[in-house]
Amino acid sequence: MSILSLANCLIGHHKPIRSNVHWKGKRLVGECRHCGAAIHRVDHGDWRAGHA
Ligand SMILES: [Zn+2]
Repeated sequence: MSILSLANCLIGHHKPIRSNVHWKGKRLVGECRHCGAAIHRVDHGDWRAGHA
């Protein structure tokens, strides 16, 4: 875990644990490898917090 990664989390750019993502309905959901937040993919490589 790095400070830079957490800074990205703070501005809403999360990174999933790749082995722990799954489809939920029409979107990929997972858990952020840096801050542990529940996240979902809104675009390729673009993950946001929350499952809504
Ligand atoms: Zn995060």
